[in-house]
Amino acid sequence: MSNGSQILVFKDMGLVSQVFDEASLGSLHGHIAVGHARYSTTGSSVWENAQPTFRATVHGSLALGHNGNLVNTAELAAMVAELPGEEHVSRSGRTAATNDTDLVTALLAGHPDLSIEETAKVVLPKVKGAFSLVFMDEHTLYAARDPQGIRPLVLGRLERGWVVASETAALDICGASFIREVEPGELIAIDENGMRSSRFAEAKPKGCVFEYVYLARPDTSIAGRNVHLSRVEMGRRLAKEAPVEADLVIATPESGTPAAIGYAEASGIPYGSGLVKNAYVGRTFIQPSQTIRQLGIRLKLNPLREVIAGKRLVVVDDSIVRGNTQRALVRMLREAGAAEVHIRISSPPVKWPCFFGIDFATRAELIANGMSVEEIGRTLGADSLAYISIDGMIEATAQPKDRLCRACFDGEYPMELPDPALLGKLLLEAEIKGGQQKPAVRGKPTSGSDLDGVQSLLGGAGAADALRRP
Ligand code: SF4
Repeated sequence: MSNGSQILVFKDMGLVSQVFDEASLGSLHGHIAVGHARYSTTGSSVWENAQPTFRATVHGSLALGHNGNLVNTAELAAMVAELPGEEHVSRSGRTAATNDTDLVTALLAGHPDLSIEETAKVVLPKVKGAFSLVFMDEHTLYAARDPQGIRPLVLGRLERGWVVASETAALDICGASFIREVEPGELIAIDENGMRSSRFAEAKPKGCVFEYVYLARPDTSIAGRNVHLSRVEMGRRLAKEAPVEADLVIATPESGTPAAIGYAEASGIPYGSGLVKNAYVGRTFIQPSQTIRQLGIRLKLNPLREVIAGKRLVVVDDSIVRGNTQRALVRMLREAGAAEVHIRISSPPVKWPCFFGIDFATRAELIANGMSVEEIGRTLGADSLAYISIDGMIEATAQPKDRLCRACFDGEYPMELPDPALLGKLLLEAEIKGGQQKPAVRGKPTSGSDLDGVQSLLGGAGAADALRRP
Protein backbone atom coordinates (compact mmCIF):
# COMPACT_ATOMS: atom_id res chain seq x y z
CA MET A 1 0.00 0.00 0.00
CA SER A 2 1.38 3.43 -0.94
CA ASN A 3 0.41 6.67 0.73
CA GLY A 4 2.24 8.64 -1.96
CA SER A 5 5.57 8.85 -0.16
CA GLN A 6 6.09 5.37 1.25
CA ILE A 7 5.14 1.76 0.53
CA LEU A 8 4.08 -0.48 3.41
CA VAL A 9 4.09 -4.25 2.77
CA PHE A 10 1.87 -6.40 4.98
CA LYS A 11 2.09 -10.12 4.23
CA ASP A 12 2.13 -13.47 6.02
CA MET A 13 1.60 -17.19 5.55
CA GLY A 14 -1.90 -18.66 5.64
CA LEU A 15 -5.35 -18.00 4.27
CA VAL A 16 -6.31 -14.40 3.52
CA SER A 17 -8.75 -14.51 6.44
CA GLN A 18 -5.94 -15.65 8.77
CA VAL A 19 -3.56 -12.90 7.67
CA PHE A 20 -5.88 -9.90 7.43
CA ASP A 21 -8.40 -8.67 9.95
CA GLU A 22 -10.12 -5.33 10.33
CA ALA A 23 -7.30 -3.92 12.45
CA SER A 24 -4.54 -4.83 9.98
CA LEU A 25 -6.57 -3.58 7.02
CA GLY A 26 -7.38 -0.40 8.91
CA SER A 27 -3.68 0.24 9.40
CA LEU A 28 -3.09 0.36 5.65
CA HIS A 29 -3.59 3.88 4.34
CA GLY A 30 -2.99 5.07 0.81
CA HIS A 31 -4.29 5.39 -2.72
CA ILE A 32 -2.46 2.55 -4.54
CA ALA A 33 -2.33 -1.07 -3.41
CA VAL A 34 -1.50 -4.52 -4.73
CA GLY A 35 -2.61 -7.76 -3.06
CA HIS A 36 -1.84 -11.39 -3.68
CA ALA A 37 -2.84 -14.87 -2.48
CA ARG A 38 -0.04 -17.23 -3.46
CA TYR A 39 -0.57 -20.59 -5.09
CA SER A 40 2.85 -22.10 -4.51
CA THR A 41 4.66 -22.78 -7.78
CA THR A 42 8.37 -22.04 -8.19
CA GLY A 43 9.80 -21.73 -4.68
CA SER A 44 8.57 -23.47 -1.53
CA SER A 45 5.90 -22.22 0.87
CA VAL A 46 7.92 -19.96 3.15
CA TRP A 47 7.36 -16.40 4.35
CA GLU A 48 10.05 -14.99 2.09
CA ASN A 49 8.18 -16.33 -0.93
CA ALA A 50 4.85 -14.77 0.08
CA GLN A 51 3.89 -11.85 -2.12
CA PRO A 52 4.01 -8.98 -2.84
CA THR A 53 7.76 -9.11 -3.29
CA PHE A 54 9.53 -5.86 -2.45
CA ARG A 55 12.68 -4.02 -3.54
CA ALA A 56 14.10 -0.58 -2.88
CA THR A 57 15.10 1.28 -6.04
CA VAL A 58 16.96 4.54 -6.59
CA HIS A 59 13.58 6.04 -7.52
CA GLY A 60 11.75 4.75 -4.43
CA SER A 61 10.38 1.27 -3.86
CA LEU A 62 8.72 -1.47 -5.83
CA ALA A 63 6.12 -4.06 -4.74
CA LEU A 64 5.00 -6.80 -7.12
CA GLY A 65 2.45 -9.62 -7.25
CA HIS A 66 2.54 -12.40 -9.85
CA ASN A 67 -0.02 -14.95 -11.01
CA GLY A 68 1.55 -17.70 -13.12
CA ASN A 69 4.88 -19.42 -13.27
CA LEU A 70 8.02 -18.66 -15.25
CA VAL A 71 9.99 -21.18 -17.27
CA ASN A 72 13.30 -19.35 -17.64
CA THR A 73 13.93 -18.94 -13.91
CA ALA A 74 17.57 -20.07 -14.19
CA GLU A 75 18.23 -17.55 -16.96
CA LEU A 76 16.61 -14.75 -14.94
CA ALA A 77 18.62 -15.78 -11.86
CA ALA A 78 21.78 -15.40 -13.94
CA MET A 79 20.67 -11.93 -15.04
CA VAL A 80 19.95 -10.93 -11.43
CA ALA A 81 23.34 -12.24 -10.32
CA GLU A 82 24.94 -9.78 -12.72
CA LEU A 83 23.12 -6.77 -11.25
CA PRO A 84 25.36 -4.61 -9.06
CA GLY A 85 24.80 -5.07 -5.31
CA GLU A 86 22.23 -7.87 -5.61
CA GLU A 87 22.81 -9.92 -2.46
CA HIS A 88 19.93 -12.40 -2.09
CA VAL A 89 20.47 -12.54 1.65
CA SER A 90 18.09 -10.70 3.92
CA ARG A 91 19.24 -8.41 6.74
CA SER A 92 18.48 -11.15 9.27
CA GLY A 93 21.03 -13.32 7.51
CA ARG A 94 18.45 -15.79 6.26
CA THR A 95 18.24 -16.50 2.59
CA ALA A 96 15.76 -14.30 0.85
CA ALA A 97 13.04 -15.32 -1.56
CA THR A 98 13.63 -18.34 -3.78
CA ASN A 99 10.84 -17.84 -6.26
CA ASP A 100 10.69 -16.71 -9.86
CA THR A 101 8.65 -13.63 -8.95
CA ASP A 102 11.38 -12.17 -6.75
CA LEU A 103 13.78 -12.34 -9.71
CA VAL A 104 11.44 -10.22 -11.85
CA THR A 105 11.15 -7.70 -9.01
CA ALA A 106 14.95 -7.57 -8.71
CA LEU A 107 15.30 -7.03 -12.46
CA LEU A 108 12.65 -4.30 -12.51
CA ALA A 109 14.44 -2.55 -9.63
CA GLY A 110 17.90 -3.10 -11.07
CA HIS A 111 18.23 -0.33 -13.66
CA PRO A 112 18.90 2.93 -11.81
CA ASP A 113 19.38 4.80 -15.09
CA LEU A 114 15.81 4.04 -16.25
CA SER A 115 12.34 4.65 -14.81
CA ILE A 116 10.34 1.58 -13.68
CA GLU A 117 8.15 1.89 -16.76
CA GLU A 118 11.14 2.03 -19.11
CA THR A 119 12.79 -0.83 -17.25
CA ALA A 120 9.65 -2.94 -17.60
CA LYS A 121 9.78 -2.54 -21.38
CA VAL A 122 13.37 -3.82 -21.36
CA VAL A 123 12.92 -6.62 -18.81
CA LEU A 124 9.49 -8.10 -19.62
CA PRO A 125 10.41 -9.30 -23.14
CA LYS A 126 13.12 -11.42 -21.47
CA VAL A 127 10.71 -13.09 -19.06
CA LYS A 128 9.32 -16.40 -20.35
CA GLY A 129 6.35 -18.34 -19.08
CA ALA A 130 3.03 -17.33 -17.60
CA PHE A 131 2.90 -13.97 -15.88
CA SER A 132 0.01 -11.75 -15.02
CA LEU A 133 1.72 -9.05 -12.98
CA VAL A 134 0.56 -6.15 -10.85
CA PHE A 135 3.28 -3.91 -9.46
CA MET A 136 3.61 -0.45 -8.04
CA ASP A 137 5.95 2.23 -6.90
CA GLU A 138 4.86 5.08 -4.62
CA HIS A 139 2.99 6.86 -7.44
CA THR A 140 2.03 4.43 -10.17
CA LEU A 141 0.21 1.12 -10.51
CA TYR A 142 1.41 -1.15 -13.34
CA ALA A 143 -0.07 -4.28 -14.88
CA ALA A 144 1.46 -6.60 -17.45
CA ARG A 145 0.49 -9.90 -19.06
CA ASP A 146 2.74 -12.40 -20.85
CA PRO A 147 2.51 -12.50 -24.67
CA GLN A 148 0.52 -15.75 -24.54
CA GLY A 149 -1.92 -14.36 -21.94
CA ILE A 150 -1.89 -17.74 -20.24
CA ARG A 151 -3.42 -16.49 -17.00
CA PRO A 152 -6.27 -13.98 -17.11
CA LEU A 153 -5.90 -10.31 -16.10
CA VAL A 154 -8.62 -7.71 -16.35
CA LEU A 155 -8.98 -3.96 -16.07
CA GLY A 156 -11.91 -2.35 -14.28
CA ARG A 157 -13.07 1.10 -13.36
CA LEU A 158 -14.41 2.49 -10.12
CA GLU A 159 -16.03 5.89 -10.00
CA ARG A 160 -12.79 7.44 -8.79
CA GLY A 161 -10.18 4.86 -9.57
CA TRP A 162 -8.94 1.85 -11.49
CA VAL A 163 -8.75 -1.82 -10.58
CA VAL A 164 -6.66 -4.60 -12.12
CA ALA A 165 -7.56 -8.15 -11.07
CA SER A 166 -7.02 -11.77 -12.04
CA GLU A 167 -10.70 -12.40 -12.58
CA THR A 168 -13.79 -10.37 -13.48
CA ALA A 169 -15.46 -11.75 -10.32
CA ALA A 170 -13.07 -9.59 -8.26
CA LEU A 171 -14.29 -6.50 -10.13
CA ASP A 172 -17.90 -7.40 -9.34
CA ILE A 173 -17.09 -7.84 -5.66
CA CYS A 174 -15.51 -4.41 -5.29
CA GLY A 175 -18.16 -2.69 -7.41
CA ALA A 176 -15.89 -1.95 -10.37
CA SER A 177 -17.16 -2.14 -13.92
CA PHE A 178 -15.31 -4.35 -16.38
CA ILE A 179 -13.47 -2.28 -19.01
CA ARG A 180 -11.44 -4.90 -20.89
CA GLU A 181 -8.80 -7.60 -20.50
CA VAL A 182 -5.18 -6.57 -20.18
CA GLU A 183 -3.96 -7.72 -23.60
CA PRO A 184 -1.29 -10.41 -23.94
CA GLY A 185 2.05 -8.56 -24.25
CA GLU A 186 0.60 -5.31 -22.87
CA LEU A 187 1.99 -3.07 -20.13
CA ILE A 188 -0.43 -0.70 -18.43
CA ALA A 189 0.53 2.20 -16.17
CA ILE A 190 -2.02 4.07 -14.07
CA ASP A 191 -1.16 7.26 -12.18
CA GLU A 192 -2.65 10.67 -11.39
CA ASN A 193 -2.73 11.42 -15.14
CA GLY A 194 -4.89 8.38 -15.90
CA MET A 195 -4.18 5.12 -17.70
CA ARG A 196 -1.64 4.59 -20.48
CA SER A 197 -0.94 1.44 -22.42
CA SER A 198 2.09 0.20 -24.29
CA ARG A 199 3.15 -3.11 -25.78
CA PHE A 200 6.34 -4.95 -24.81
CA ALA A 201 5.72 -7.98 -27.05
CA GLU A 202 3.48 -9.13 -29.86
CA ALA A 203 0.34 -10.94 -28.67
CA LYS A 204 0.30 -14.72 -29.27
CA PRO A 205 -2.79 -15.69 -27.30
CA LYS A 206 -2.80 -19.13 -25.63
CA GLY A 207 -5.10 -18.81 -22.63
CA CYS A 208 -5.12 -21.72 -20.17
CA VAL A 209 -8.09 -23.99 -20.92
CA PHE A 210 -7.91 -25.35 -17.38
CA GLU A 211 -9.14 -21.97 -16.12
CA TYR A 212 -12.49 -22.83 -17.75
CA VAL A 213 -12.42 -26.40 -16.42
CA TYR A 214 -11.48 -25.81 -12.79
CA LEU A 215 -9.31 -22.87 -11.83
CA ALA A 216 -11.35 -19.74 -12.35
CA ARG A 217 -14.37 -18.85 -10.28
CA PRO A 218 -17.65 -19.80 -12.00
CA ASP A 219 -18.84 -16.18 -11.87
CA THR A 220 -15.82 -15.04 -13.88
CA SER A 221 -15.74 -14.47 -17.63
CA ILE A 222 -12.56 -15.09 -19.63
CA ALA A 223 -12.24 -13.81 -23.20
CA GLY A 224 -15.94 -12.99 -23.12
CA ARG A 225 -17.06 -16.48 -22.07
CA ASN A 226 -18.64 -17.10 -18.67
CA VAL A 227 -16.84 -19.91 -16.84
CA HIS A 228 -19.98 -21.44 -15.28
CA LEU A 229 -21.71 -21.70 -18.66
CA SER A 230 -18.59 -23.33 -20.14
CA ARG A 231 -18.68 -25.95 -17.39
CA VAL A 232 -22.40 -26.67 -17.87
CA GLU A 233 -21.77 -27.06 -21.60
CA MET A 234 -18.85 -29.44 -20.89
CA GLY A 235 -21.32 -31.56 -18.90
CA ARG A 236 -23.87 -31.55 -21.73
CA ARG A 237 -21.25 -32.61 -24.26
CA LEU A 238 -19.92 -35.26 -21.87
CA ALA A 239 -23.44 -36.75 -21.59
CA LYS A 240 -23.63 -37.02 -25.38
CA GLU A 241 -20.13 -38.44 -25.71
CA ALA A 242 -20.36 -40.88 -22.78
CA PRO A 243 -23.96 -41.86 -21.96
CA VAL A 244 -24.82 -44.41 -19.27
CA GLU A 245 -28.01 -45.86 -17.79
CA ALA A 246 -28.38 -44.55 -14.27
CA ASP A 247 -30.86 -43.22 -11.68
CA LEU A 248 -29.14 -40.10 -10.40
CA VAL A 249 -26.44 -37.63 -11.44
CA ILE A 250 -24.42 -36.21 -8.57
CA ALA A 251 -21.44 -33.87 -8.54
CA THR A 252 -18.19 -33.88 -6.67
CA PRO A 253 -18.88 -30.59 -4.95
CA GLU A 254 -18.41 -27.89 -5.79
CA SER A 255 -16.21 -27.75 -8.83
CA GLY A 256 -18.05 -30.66 -10.50
CA THR A 257 -21.50 -29.13 -9.96
CA PRO A 258 -21.99 -27.11 -13.19
CA ALA A 259 -20.86 -30.04 -15.37
CA ALA A 260 -23.16 -32.40 -13.42
CA ILE A 261 -26.08 -30.04 -14.05
CA GLY A 262 -25.21 -30.08 -17.77
CA TYR A 263 -24.87 -33.87 -17.78
CA ALA A 264 -28.26 -34.31 -16.11
CA GLU A 265 -29.90 -31.84 -18.49
CA ALA A 266 -28.59 -33.52 -21.63
CA SER A 267 -29.09 -37.11 -20.43
CA GLY A 268 -32.52 -36.67 -18.85
CA ILE A 269 -31.27 -38.39 -15.64
CA PRO A 270 -32.32 -36.42 -12.54
CA TYR A 271 -29.67 -34.31 -10.79
CA GLY A 272 -29.37 -34.63 -7.03
CA SER A 273 -27.17 -33.65 -4.16
CA GLY A 274 -25.36 -36.77 -2.97
CA LEU A 275 -22.32 -35.35 -1.22
CA VAL A 276 -21.99 -32.58 1.30
CA LYS A 277 -18.83 -30.55 1.32
CA ASN A 278 -17.26 -29.28 4.47
CA ALA A 279 -17.00 -25.59 3.65
CA TYR A 280 -13.95 -25.09 5.88
CA VAL A 281 -11.58 -27.34 3.96
CA GLY A 282 -9.77 -25.96 0.92
CA ARG A 283 -9.32 -27.35 -2.57
CA THR A 284 -7.52 -30.64 -2.10
CA PHE A 285 -4.88 -30.59 -4.81
CA ILE A 286 -3.61 -27.24 -3.59
CA GLN A 287 -2.60 -28.78 -0.26
CA PRO A 288 1.15 -29.25 -0.37
CA SER A 289 1.71 -32.76 0.98
CA GLN A 290 0.26 -36.12 0.00
CA THR A 291 -0.59 -36.99 3.62
CA ILE A 292 -2.65 -33.86 4.08
CA ARG A 293 -4.21 -34.39 0.67
CA GLN A 294 -5.37 -37.88 1.65
CA LEU A 295 -6.68 -36.70 4.98
CA GLY A 296 -8.29 -33.79 3.16
CA ILE A 297 -10.51 -36.04 1.07
CA ARG A 298 -12.15 -37.63 4.13
CA LEU A 299 -12.45 -34.27 5.82
CA LYS A 300 -13.85 -32.69 2.71
CA LEU A 301 -16.87 -34.78 1.71
CA ASN A 302 -19.68 -36.65 3.45
CA PRO A 303 -22.20 -38.82 1.53
CA LEU A 304 -25.94 -38.32 1.91
CA ARG A 305 -26.81 -42.00 2.51
CA GLU A 306 -30.57 -41.50 2.27
CA VAL A 307 -30.20 -40.03 -1.23
CA ILE A 308 -27.74 -42.46 -2.76
CA ALA A 309 -28.57 -45.87 -1.19
CA GLY A 310 -29.66 -48.38 -3.84
CA LYS A 311 -29.11 -45.92 -6.73
CA ARG A 312 -27.06 -46.27 -9.90
CA LEU A 313 -25.02 -43.08 -9.74
CA VAL A 314 -23.29 -40.93 -12.33
CA VAL A 315 -20.64 -38.99 -10.44
CA VAL A 316 -19.41 -35.94 -12.39
CA ASP A 317 -16.08 -34.33 -11.54
CA ASP A 318 -14.01 -31.69 -13.33
CA SER A 319 -10.69 -33.54 -13.53
CA ILE A 320 -8.60 -36.45 -12.31
CA VAL A 321 -4.99 -35.63 -11.50
CA ARG A 322 -3.63 -38.31 -9.17
CA GLY A 323 -6.90 -40.20 -8.69
CA ASN A 324 -6.79 -40.20 -4.89
CA THR A 325 -9.97 -38.14 -4.49
CA GLN A 326 -11.99 -40.30 -6.84
CA ARG A 327 -10.73 -43.60 -5.38
CA ALA A 328 -11.74 -42.55 -1.87
CA LEU A 329 -15.03 -41.23 -3.21
CA VAL A 330 -16.03 -44.45 -4.97
CA ARG A 331 -15.29 -46.40 -1.79
CA MET A 332 -17.30 -43.94 0.27
CA LEU A 333 -20.30 -44.08 -2.11
CA ARG A 334 -20.32 -47.88 -2.15
CA GLU A 335 -20.14 -47.97 1.65
CA ALA A 336 -23.11 -45.61 1.65
CA GLY A 337 -25.10 -48.11 -0.40
CA ALA A 338 -24.73 -46.97 -4.03
CA ALA A 339 -25.73 -49.79 -6.43
CA GLU A 340 -23.40 -48.61 -9.22
CA VAL A 341 -20.85 -45.80 -9.52
CA HIS A 342 -20.12 -44.39 -12.99
CA ILE A 343 -17.53 -41.62 -13.10
CA ARG A 344 -17.70 -38.94 -15.78
CA ILE A 345 -14.96 -36.31 -16.06
CA SER A 346 -15.56 -32.95 -17.74
CA SER A 347 -11.94 -32.58 -18.91
CA PRO A 348 -9.74 -35.01 -20.85
CA PRO A 349 -7.05 -37.13 -19.10
CA VAL A 350 -4.27 -34.96 -17.63
CA LYS A 351 -1.13 -36.54 -19.09
CA TRP A 352 1.49 -33.79 -19.13
CA PRO A 353 2.89 -31.52 -16.45
CA CYS A 354 2.03 -27.83 -16.40
CA PHE A 355 4.91 -25.37 -16.22
CA PHE A 356 2.67 -22.30 -16.15
CA GLY A 357 1.37 -22.19 -12.64
CA ILE A 358 -0.56 -25.39 -11.89
CA ASP A 359 1.25 -27.73 -9.57
CA PHE A 360 0.18 -31.03 -11.16
CA ALA A 361 3.74 -32.14 -10.42
CA THR A 362 5.43 -34.69 -12.63
CA ARG A 363 4.12 -37.14 -15.20
CA ALA A 364 4.97 -40.02 -12.85
CA GLU A 365 2.29 -38.78 -10.45
CA LEU A 366 -0.42 -38.34 -13.09
CA ILE A 367 -2.75 -41.33 -13.08
CA ALA A 368 -3.54 -40.94 -16.81
CA ASN A 369 0.12 -41.26 -17.72
CA GLY A 370 0.64 -44.74 -19.13
CA MET A 371 -2.78 -46.18 -18.22
CA SER A 372 -5.84 -46.60 -20.43
CA VAL A 373 -9.15 -45.07 -19.38
CA GLU A 374 -10.46 -48.56 -18.60
CA GLU A 375 -7.47 -49.32 -16.39
CA ILE A 376 -7.88 -46.04 -14.54
CA GLY A 377 -11.56 -46.83 -14.00
CA ARG A 378 -10.58 -50.20 -12.52
CA THR A 379 -7.99 -48.70 -10.17
CA LEU A 380 -10.61 -46.24 -8.97
CA GLY A 381 -13.04 -49.10 -8.34
CA ALA A 382 -15.72 -47.54 -10.59
CA ASP A 383 -18.28 -49.45 -12.68
CA SER A 384 -17.31 -47.23 -15.61
CA LEU A 385 -15.19 -44.17 -16.31
CA ALA A 386 -15.26 -41.73 -19.23
CA TYR A 387 -13.69 -38.36 -19.96
CA ILE A 388 -14.85 -35.60 -22.32
CA SER A 389 -12.85 -35.34 -25.56
CA ILE A 390 -10.35 -32.51 -26.04
CA ASP A 391 -12.50 -31.03 -28.82
CA GLY A 392 -15.66 -31.32 -26.72
CA MET A 393 -13.98 -29.41 -23.88
CA ILE A 394 -12.64 -26.73 -26.21
CA GLU A 395 -15.96 -26.22 -28.00
CA ALA A 396 -17.61 -25.68 -24.61
CA THR A 397 -15.26 -22.74 -23.95
CA ALA A 398 -16.40 -21.06 -27.21
CA GLN A 399 -12.75 -20.15 -27.90
CA PRO A 400 -10.80 -20.99 -31.04
CA LYS A 401 -8.60 -24.03 -30.38
CA ASP A 402 -5.42 -22.26 -31.53
CA ARG A 403 -5.91 -19.53 -28.90
CA LEU A 404 -5.86 -21.98 -25.97
CA CYS A 405 -3.07 -23.72 -24.10
CA ARG A 406 -4.12 -27.34 -23.55
CA ALA A 407 -0.65 -28.77 -23.01
CA CYS A 408 -1.51 -30.79 -19.90
CA PHE A 409 -4.00 -32.72 -22.06
CA ASP A 410 -2.19 -33.02 -25.39
CA GLY A 411 1.47 -32.20 -24.66
CA GLU A 412 1.56 -29.27 -27.13
CA TYR A 413 3.27 -26.56 -25.10
CA PRO A 414 2.56 -22.99 -26.17
CA MET A 415 6.20 -21.93 -26.06
CA GLU A 416 9.64 -23.42 -26.21
CA LEU A 417 10.70 -24.81 -22.84
CA PRO A 418 14.27 -24.74 -21.58
CA ASP A 419 16.43 -27.74 -20.73
CA PRO A 420 14.61 -29.95 -18.16
CA ALA A 421 17.47 -29.39 -15.74
CA LEU A 422 16.52 -25.73 -15.62
CA LEU A 423 12.88 -26.26 -14.73
CA GLY A 424 11.55 -27.21 -11.34
CA LYS A 425 9.76 -25.84 -8.35
CA LEU A 426 12.79 -25.89 -6.06
CA LEU A 427 15.40 -24.79 -8.57
CA LEU A 428 16.50 -21.72 -6.63
CA GLU A 429 16.51 -23.53 -3.28
CA ALA A 430 18.86 -26.06 -4.85
CA GLU A 431 21.26 -23.33 -5.81
CA ILE A 432 21.32 -21.92 -2.32
CA LYS A 433 21.57 -25.29 -0.54
CA GLY A 434 24.49 -26.08 -2.81
CA GLY A 435 26.43 -23.36 -0.99
CA GLN A 436 25.97 -20.65 -3.58
CA GLN A 437 24.00 -17.85 -2.00
CA LYS A 438 23.72 -16.14 -5.33
CA PRO A 439 21.80 -18.08 -7.97
CA ALA A 440 24.50 -19.17 -10.33
CA VAL A 441 24.55 -19.25 -14.10
CA ARG A 442 23.58 -22.76 -15.11
CA GLY A 443 24.26 -23.79 -18.62
CA LYS A 444 23.54 -27.24 -19.96
CA PRO A 445 24.63 -29.88 -17.45
CA THR A 446 28.03 -31.16 -18.37
CA SER A 447 27.87 -34.50 -16.64
CA GLY A 448 25.28 -37.16 -16.00
CA SER A 449 25.51 -36.75 -12.26
CA ASP A 450 24.76 -33.03 -12.52
CA LEU A 451 21.63 -33.81 -14.45
CA ASP A 452 20.59 -36.57 -12.05
CA GLY A 453 20.88 -34.14 -9.15
CA VAL A 454 18.53 -31.64 -10.68
CA GLN A 455 16.23 -34.32 -12.06
CA SER A 456 15.63 -35.50 -8.52
CA LEU A 457 14.29 -32.02 -7.75
CA LEU A 458 11.71 -32.51 -10.42
CA GLY A 459 10.48 -35.55 -8.50
CA GLY A 460 10.72 -37.95 -11.42
CA ALA A 461 11.35 -38.14 -15.10
CA GLY A 462 7.97 -36.68 -15.97
CA ALA A 463 8.96 -33.11 -16.73
CA ALA A 464 11.95 -34.25 -18.74
CA ASP A 465 9.74 -36.64 -20.74
CA ALA A 466 7.38 -33.83 -21.53
CA LEU A 467 10.18 -31.75 -22.95
CA ARG A 468 11.48 -34.55 -25.14
CA ARG A 469 8.17 -34.81 -26.94
CA PRO A 470 8.42 -33.27 -30.40
S1 SF4 B 1 -0.60 -26.89 -19.29
FE1 SF4 B 1 -2.79 -27.10 -18.76
S2 SF4 B 1 -3.02 -26.11 -16.74
FE2 SF4 B 1 -1.04 -25.45 -17.62
S3 SF4 B 1 -1.47 -23.52 -18.67
FE3 SF4 B 1 -1.67 -25.14 -20.21
S4 SF4 B 1 -3.85 -25.75 -20.16
FE4 SF4 B 1 -3.43 -24.55 -18.32
